[in-house]
Amino acid sequence: MKSDIEIANSASLIDVREVAKHLNISEDYLDLYGKHKAKISLDLLNNDCSETNNSKLILVTSINPTPAGEGKTTVNIALSMALNKVGKKALSALREPSKGPVFGMKGGACGGGYSQILPMEDINLHFTGDIAAIESAHNLLAAIIDNHIYQGNQLNINPKNVVWNRVLDVNDRALRNIVIGMGPNTDGVMRESKFEITAASEIMAILCLAEDLEDLRTRLGRIIVAYNYSNEIIRADDLGATDSLLLLLKKAFEPNLVQTIENTPALIHGGPFANIAHGSNSIVALKLARQLADYVVTEAGFGADLGAEKFFDIVSRNENVKADAVVLVATVKALKYNGGQKKEDLEKEDLDALREGFSNLKRHMENVHKFGRPFVVAINRFPSDTEAEIKTLQDLVSELGVEAVVADPYNLGSEGAIDLANKVIEITDNNAEEKFIYDLETSFVDKIEAVATEIYRADKVVYSSGVKNKLRKFEKDGYKKLPVCIAKTQYSFSDKANKLGAPTNFEFEVTDVELKAGAGFVVVKAGSINTMPGLPQKPAAMNIKVGKDGTITGLA
Ligand code: ADP
Ligand code: MG
Repeated sequence: MKSDIEIANSASLIDVREVAKHLNISEDYLDLYGKHKAKISLDLLNNDCSETNNSKLILVTSINPTPAGEGKTTVNIALSMALNKVGKKALSALREPSKGPVFGMKGGACGGGYSQILPMEDINLHFTGDIAAIESAHNLLAAIIDNHIYQGNQLNINPKNVVWNRVLDVNDRALRNIVIGMGPNTDGVMRESKFEITAASEIMAILCLAEDLEDLRTRLGRIIVAYNYSNEIIRADDLGATDSLLLLLKKAFEPNLVQTIENTPALIHGGPFANIAHGSNSIVALKLARQLADYVVTEAGFGADLGAEKFFDIVSRNENVKADAVVLVATVKALKYNGGQKKEDLEKEDLDALREGFSNLKRHMENVHKFGRPFVVAINRFPSDTEAEIKTLQDLVSELGVEAVVADPYNLGSEGAIDLANKVIEITDNNAEEKFIYDLETSFVDKIEAVATEIYRADKVVYSSGVKNKLRKFEKDGYKKLPVCIAKTQYSFSDKANKLGAPTNFEFEVTDVELKAGAGFVVVKAGSINTMPGLPQKPAAMNIKVGKDGTITGLA
C-alpha cells in the first residue's frame, strides 16, 4: 500500500488560479504563494456578504479519539470532493496542522490516502507563515511585558502574576517550566514562566474567532497579560502593543486557498486545539467559504464531547456560522478499542467488543441530538473491517433511528463518499433550530455543570481550592456572559483518559480556570492538561527522511 506522501507526490496539481476560478474568485483577490497556494483578500468577503445565508455548513465530528485513528479530516475531504462530484459547489474549510503533532505522535493533518489536501508537505510545515506570524505576535507581547517590568514597571505589574507565557510550535517538554531573566541586571527581571505550543496561544483562538480586522484589533487589545499588585487587570492595550500585534497578524488573517487531491478547492486557516481552545478553523474562512460555495465542510477537533460542543456553544453563537448538518465519524476499530479490545488485536473480528464499545458512539449520538441539528453517522471503513462488523454497527445505529453510511475515503477518494454526500444533501436543513447546552446569562459554575452533566454525564463537578473564587472574580470583573471552554482529556467523556466507552458514576474535577478575554471564553481545566505537549518515545520525527533528490518519505 502506498504511503500518504507517495500518493500525494503522484497527484497532479493544478494552478491555484484555476482552483480559484472554480469559485469565481478573480485573480485580483489572490496573493500567490507559488503555484499551489494563495491567500484570499478579505476585501472579497466585505464586498459581498449577502449570499452567505444560502450555503450550507456541514460539521464533521467524531467519537472519542483512540490510537486507532478516526479520520475526521480524511472523511471531511472525501465528502467535499464527493459533493462536487454529485454536482454541488463544495469546499472543505479546515485547520492548519501544528508542527507539534506532525513531528510528535499523530503526524500531519491533511487527510490520508486518496482524500488529502495538497501540497501536504507545505501545509504540514511552514505553509504561508501564519503560525509563525502568530508565534511572533505572541512572543513580542511577552517581550514587551518583561521589558515593561524591567524599565521601571509603571503599571505595577506583579511579576508573580504575569499570565502571558511564551509559545513555540515544537513539542518540547523541557520548556514547560522555565526561569527567565537570569544573569546580570541588564538581562531582565527574574521570574518563573512557561512555554506553550503555538496552537495553544490565545492569539490563535483570537485569529480564528475575530469577525474582521477591527474585531481582531479589539480582541488583541483586550488580552489580559497580567495583574498588578492590587490584583487589577493589565491588558495588551495598557502596554500600547496592540497595533504592532495587528501588523504582525494582518497577512495571517487572510484565509489560504489550496486544493484537494481531486483538484477541488479547500480553505485552510487557523489551527486552535480543541481542549484549551475551541478547536475549529477561522470564522473569516467559514464566512468566506459560505459566500463561495453551496456546501462548506468543516471539522471540530477531537471527539464530539470537546470539538462539537465547543463549535455549538462557542463558535456558532455567531449567526453566520451555524451548522446545518453534522457528520459523526466512527470506526469499527475505535469502537472495539472502546469496548475493551487490545490495541494489537484491533484488526481481528470481535463483535462483542464492537457492541460493548458502541456505547461511546451512542452517547455521542444522544449528545449531538441535544444540539438540534440533523446528523448522520459515517462509518470510516478500514481494510481490516469485516462485513459482519460493518453490518452489526449499521444495525446498532439504525436501532436508534439514525442512518449509518459506510464511507471509504482513504482508498477511493470521492467515490468512497458518494453515498455519504447524498445523505448529507438529504438531511441538511437550514431551518433546524439550533440549541445550546447552556445560556450565556447563567453563572460559570452553572455553565460548567451543564456541560459536565449533560455532555460528559458526570454525577457532579468538584473544584480544587481557590478555583470558585477565581470564577467569582471573573464574574465581578465583568466577564460573566462568556462561554466556557473546557480543557480535558480527549480520550474519555470523563476527565480520566483511561475511562473508555460511556463512563458513569464519576465526579468531574475542575483543577484551574483561566480568563481569555481576547478570545472571549473562560478555559476550564480538568485533570492533567498540558499546553506544551512532549515528544513520545519514538517521535514521528524519527521516521522522516529527505533523499538526495529532495524526495520526502515518512511524512504522514
Ligand atoms: P482526525 O482528523 O480524526 O484526527 P485523520 O483524518 O487525520 O483523523 O486521520 C488519522 C490517520 O488515520 C491519518 O494518518 C489517516 O491517513 C488515517 N486514516 C483515516 N481514515 C483511514 C481509513 N479509512 N483507512 C486507513 N487509514 C485511515
Ligand atoms: Mg483532523
